[in-house]
Amino acid sequence: MASKARVIYWFRTDLRLHDSPALQAALDLQPECLWPIFTWDPHYVYRVQGAANRWQFLLDCQNDLSASITALNPASRLFVLREAPQTLLPKLFSAWNVTHLVFERDTDAYARARDATILAAAARAGVTVVTRSGRTLWDPDALVRANAGKPTMTMSQLQAAGRKVGPIPPPLPAPTSLPDPGAMPLEHVEDTHHHHHPPETTAGPDLNARWREGQDAGYARLAGPQGDFAVETLAELGFAPAAATTPHRGGETVALQRLDTVMADVAYAATFRKPQTSPAAFAPASTTLLSPFLHFGALSPRLFYHRALEACSRFRGAPSAPPESLTGQLLFRDMYFAAQAALGAAMAQTVGNPQVRYVPWHLPSKVEYVGGASYTIDHPQAEEWFQRWAAGTTGFPWIDALMRQLRHDGWIHHLGRHSVACFLTRGGCYIHWERGADVFAELLLDHEPACNSGNWQWLSCTAFFSQYYRCYSPVAFAQKWDRDGAFVRKWVPELQRLDKKVIHEPWKASPAELRNAGVALVDFPGVGVDMAPGTYPVRMFDFDERRRICIAGLKKAYEVGLHGDHDKVLDGTALDL
Ligand code: FAD
Repeated sequence: MASKARVIYWFRTDLRLHDSPALQAALDLQPECLWPIFTWDPHYVYRVQGAANRWQFLLDCQNDLSASITALNPASRLFVLREAPQTLLPKLFSAWNVTHLVFERDTDAYARARDATILAAAARAGVTVVTRSGRTLWDPDALVRANAGKPTMTMSQLQAAGRKVGPIPPPLPAPTSLPDPGAMPLEHVEDTHHHHHPPETTAGPDLNARWREGQDAGYARLAGPQGDFAVETLAELGFAPAAATTPHRGGETVALQRLDTVMADVAYAATFRKPQTSPAAFAPASTTLLSPFLHFGALSPRLFYHRALEACSRFRGAPSAPPESLTGQLLFRDMYFAAQAALGAAMAQTVGNPQVRYVPWHLPSKVEYVGGASYTIDHPQAEEWFQRWAAGTTGFPWIDALMRQLRHDGWIHHLGRHSVACFLTRGGCYIHWERGADVFAELLLDHEPACNSGNWQWLSCTAFFSQYYRCYSPVAFAQKWDRDGAFVRKWVPELQRLDKKVIHEPWKASPAELRNAGVALVDFPGVGVDMAPGTYPVRMFDFDERRRICIAGLKKAYEVGLHGDHDKVLDGTALDL
């Protein structure tokens, strides 16, 4: 008997055809028609203010996926609908006579709230919803249940929970054919399109106003400028063509080629030890650079995992083991996802997060700021330090090189992230980790709310890690990995000709050395003021002095306790910060 299933397959965190349990579940319905769709979501357009680089990576993934769909069925493609799913899908259910909605499960805090709205609407419309986990090695909710309902805060907790949940399923092959899409009448749908209000989850009043303006301006028309549901362009999203500067391009095809290249070097893949990979390596990077593909679901983590195991089994010597191995890296990713699945929105902040240590930093969290209930130790220069860190003008070449690479490329090595995150928080500026996490959220191609927050907590010693007396020196660590200064020279061209002896500490260069290198060390001209050509700023503080102050501050914060009463203990004078 022919199936009467009329299925919307909603692509979100899974821009791929290979190893997709949700897509497989959709095909198992043997649908009479299947619409592969992607919807715009104001949350991502206006709330998480991503830089053009990440949007370009998304568009690459969408275009590649659309071409792969068309290769399997010339009548089909990825149909991009320019409206919030909360308002759009209920209209499509009736206009297209939909029987099933299928998607990959997403345990991010915002996504859960959004999907609850969709589930309720589907129930009202009599549409059956089918979901599968496929974004992580294990279903994060299953990990949380196996961890007694608690967030996984250590690798051993994660591994124990994973053992209870069961073996990581082997990857599924990509489909070899896809059903036709059904008709896509929009008259009824577009009727109401200009009159609805954006979903309440999208943010404050001015952002909602911008969303409405966008609709009125016409660029949010449901089917796009050509009326054909084409993948959007950067221009349609409001970015100048030159805004995307990254050399890293997205798409499932590139992801699978990259994975093949990584795994073809069996010795590399089997003996990978993260702490021994260089943060100063570029062209090529010393790690896989697969994180942005994992973020957009252009690569399945389970395929990556099983291919890494296969490399280990083919290797003749002793392979490396978690947490340092490639499989261990993917376990970290699952650890943060499962922590977030238990903590919800609190994962991204200190307020209301039972796992995160309170530290009275120099600058408050934005969350506390809004609530007006923060205790900080003010420092007159903290805001300027923060701006200089974000812009890559601290006067510490290693930090500046990394922050400029992050802004330009949208990706930096894990130990580079360690360096700049430690420097901003407990090993230099003493600024709230949430402020740094915001900058990363804007600039990273691979920005993953769970991994970003979790790693910032790790680096600021507010959760996951507590050895606050071990700081990364922006000089000694740089000299270890970038001995000749090639990495700094690439990203901080002002220092191109400086001798390698002083390239990581230009304040030690003699006047003659600076003159010969054609660079002048000058006082920072102020936030927002361009540095004059041929100049580089004097370092913004003495690192050794700041390190001492930071460690003393963290020591005090640890004495006060995880959520101790800092107001009473510190009363603003107890600590000489
Ligand atoms: P590889 O070393 O090749 O590792 C393979 C994969 O394992 C990665 O692609 C990634 O998916 C996963 N992985 C590796 N290390 C970690 C880790 N520590 N935590 C979680 N997953 C990991 N990673 C993100 O994916 N998104 C983020 O937003 C993010 N923010 C970070 C913020 C800070 C302050 C720090 C210190 C780290 C952050 N990381 C984040 C983790 C890590 O730096 C990147 O995943 C990694 O550098 C990506 O490069 P790669 O693909 O070459 O990694």
